[in-house]
Amino acid sequence: MSLYFDFHCHLADEQYTTEDLSQILSICQQENITICSMSTNFEDFKLNLEYSNHPNVLIGFGIHPYEAHKIKQMPNWEEKIQKTIEQYKNLIKFIGEVGLDFYKMKHTYQQQIEVFEYFTYLSSEYNLPLSIHTRSAEKEVCNILIKYQKKKKLKAIFHCYTSTEKDIAKTILENEWYFGFGGVITFKKSTELREILKYIYDNKGNILCETDSPYITPEPYRGKKNYPYFVKIIYENVEKILKTKDFIFSYPI
Ligand SMILES: [Zn+2]
Repeated sequence: MSLYFDFHCHLADEQYTTEDLSQILSICQQENITICSMSTNFEDFKLNLEYSNHPNVLIGFGIHPYEAHKIKQMPNWEEKIQKTIEQYKNLIKFIGEVGLDFYKMKHTYQQQIEVFEYFTYLSSEYNLPLSIHTRSAEKEVCNILIKYQKKKKLKAIFHCYTSTEKDIAKTILENEWYFGFGGVITFKKSTELREILKYIYDNKGNILCETDSPYITPEPYRGKKNYPYFVKIIYENVEKILKTKDFIFSYPI
């Protein structure tokens, strides 16, 4: 078992060079960090498959909300998604990155909902945790999750959690879903988010650490490229805010 998990990152991102990738894998192996690498489309997933047999890598398959409208144009898109999961079910450990983004992509909301609902259904069928991106659509995401978890609880991870609305945190707590904290928690301006983190901890919420690398680089490297091994910075920050090492109540995997 690893000491550290980066619960959400993108090894397949085009920003990473071959040198970056071999450095990431060797540092993570040395420092006992498990990398959970998400896919945003079918092409990403193919690249992630190449890393899936590395001892420190777990991979996810999903279609990012920014890509949902493109997938919806494919004939038999549902069948294509389901076949991919069926074919690689021994390798796929997460469904992600999936979700709803009504902030940047309001015009594709209908396609996003259909694609996200389908992945939520597959998450319950295959008992796989969902790694969820959501922006300005937290309530809609919660409603879809509740709709599909009638028989058993879904393992839903709210990746890059930044909502400061207490009602959203309460719904996630009630359903025993997961909060993924990343680089934003280290930013100077995130005072309110740090208060929410304390509230979640006090209410025995499931707290996970992640980087979303190569994006959302934590302080003091903000503005530069992000790497999965920077997750140690996130662990240190969360520990400092909560004044304890004992903040992870359970893992979704
Ligand atoms: Zn991501």
